[in-house]
Amino acid sequence: MSAQSADERITRARSAQIAWARTGMRDRVRELARLRKQIALDRESIVEAIVADTGKPPLDALGGDVLVTLEMMRFYERRAERLLRPRRVGRSRLFFPRCRFTEHFEPHGVALVFGPANYPLQLSIVPAITALYAGNAVVLKVSEKTPAVARIIEDIANRAALPPDLLQVTTAGPEEAVELIDARPDFIFFTGSSSNGKAVAARAATLGTPALLELGGSDPAIVFADCDTDRAVEGIVYGAFSNGGQVCVGVKRLFVERPLYQGFLNALVRRAAQLRVGAGDDCDLGKLPSESGRAVLTAQVQDALTKGARLETSGDAIDGPIILSEVSPDARLAREECFGPVLCVQAFTSEREAIDLANASPYALGASVWTRDLTKGRRVSQALASGSCAINDVIRNIANPHAAFGGNGASGYGRYHGAEGLYAFSRVKTVMENRSSKQSEINWFPLGRKKYEGLNTLIEWLHRPRGAVAALRRILRLAAFAAALGSSAVQAQAAHLLLQVKLPAGAHGRVAYLLFSSANGFPQDKSKAVKHGFSDPVGQGSVQTIDLGDMPPGRYAASVYLDENENGKLDSGFLGIPKEPVGASNNPHHRMGPPHFEDCVFTMNSSNLSLSIQLVRP
Ligand code: NAD
Repeated sequence: MSAQSADERITRARSAQIAWARTGMRDRVRELARLRKQIALDRESIVEAIVADTGKPPLDALGGDVLVTLEMMRFYERRAERLLRPRRVGRSRLFFPRCRFTEHFEPHGVALVFGPANYPLQLSIVPAITALYAGNAVVLKVSEKTPAVARIIEDIANRAALPPDLLQVTTAGPEEAVELIDARPDFIFFTGSSSNGKAVAARAATLGTPALLELGGSDPAIVFADCDTDRAVEGIVYGAFSNGGQVCVGVKRLFVERPLYQGFLNALVRRAAQLRVGAGDDCDLGKLPSESGRAVLTAQVQDALTKGARLETSGDAIDGPIILSEVSPDARLAREECFGPVLCVQAFTSEREAIDLANASPYALGASVWTRDLTKGRRVSQALASGSCAINDVIRNIANPHAAFGGNGASGYGRYHGAEGLYAFSRVKTVMENRSSKQSEINWFPLGRKKYEGLNTLIEWLHRPRGAVAALRRILRLAAFAAALGSSAVQAQAAHLLLQVKLPAGAHGRVAYLLFSSANGFPQDKSKAVKHGFSDPVGQGSVQTIDLGDMPPGRYAASVYLDENENGKLDSGFLGIPKEPVGASNNPHHRMGPPHFEDCVFTMNSSNLSLSIQLVRP
């Protein structure tokens, strides 16, 4: 494929996508259901193509590739419409009165999907179909190692009569794949090895193209001594050697609790020896990896043996199941993905050690835990770094169309399957509707000191840590404030608070004032006050007016004192009795000790308020 034809492909896909995105979901479902039905009708030919390309047993092709694909397709047929419906999201009634927020799911545009060779139908069609349901067009790059499967996908898409150019299939090799990336699709979905995936993502990043990576794995299985041993042996043998060990979520590293270790290892070796390797219906493992794959496997196994590993199985090391024990943490098998029928086994003595061993790999795709104690199983599954985990099962958990799937670390990033798949192939657009008829919003121009102070007070209310009772009061106050804001935020700001402080005869100095919105710190701790300060020096009059400016609605209490010597604090004598005149809102009766907040509380609503406070000498 020339660079021009890569460009042409993407361009054609782009025009098809514009019409497809406008197609209602019911029509999308009708069109794509035809593709599913065609796959179901042609399943035997598909199995033949998969077996020809990969050498896997026909049952593996029918179950792992065809059935999983059909189930995933039907899941989206039934659910895509609901999952992609625009959804209302919440908002703060205080800051967004009369507003509505909605999230809409939009397609990226043209999705370039890379399929790998090991499950060539499922891992090509499932991401492609998910992209299509989300409204994208797809250029599907099926692995060049599976040309028969690519041909049959193209043929089925034609016979299902999908809109022209909506789903284009190619088996371009890696060089041509780069041309497709450079032709600027809008999204890339890559399934394959970690090194190739990173190269694709790096290239995409230079063009600003988002990419989702489903990469290699080195899955751990943790077997506790309390497991159902027979089931665990069968499960691990299947998990390690299914599809010749060429499963991204195949078991590669097995950790067995020490009391069970030797017996379990012996049972595994016996069971592995019974597996039938070859071609046709009655084989368990099909053709083993390609020549280049075999060379890598041989080198990995040799490296482990050189570093002290023990070969537990007998026979030619690469042509059947291989079980190794005592594999050094320095061995390549402990650090790299091993894409073949090789299982490394190790004993552990504690749950913590098992978790640490399992998490020691850079890969974190799947995992399994084997125990009769489900509480322990859940606890361990939570502690593992992997993107998924099965308790008392293996591999097939990823075939549930409802459940998200994907890896962490060297195993990639992003999720698909289930609702997550549709979201991965979508961009969220958030729309805010304001139904207010006000001329202006509180944050619009003009800016100014009053608004600043109002906001500052609000932040104080909303975010300063307080006790539970105060938190409840704060909620009630905020509800009142929100109600006031709902009618007019500007009006709520306009409530003005004046303190008219009655002075004792011959007063001198300045009046100190403190305003509180809770009992916390009342009446004298200025660090807890919502406002505090000093008046100008008192004059000849008997009243000192203090303007506290605009106050949001709420409950407050004010305290004042006459700072006669202007030392900036209330002087007190023996036993803490003030030496200077003091007062508080509501002019509470003189009593021993400071007044209580609740005795002094007053309510601000959206009307201006003027309070008279008498200063008295204690
Ligand atoms: P691969 O990396 O060789 O190829 C995957 C796809 O990438 C193919 O379509 C291939 O043509 C293309 N490709 C390869 N090199 C490229 C490059 N440099 N630039 C652009 N495209 C390139 O992988 P594979 O051998 O087909 O599949 C096996 C690997 O895939 C294993 O590592 C396995 O663990 C992984 N895998 C992961 C998942 C998963 O869901 N996480 C599933 C299946 C397989």
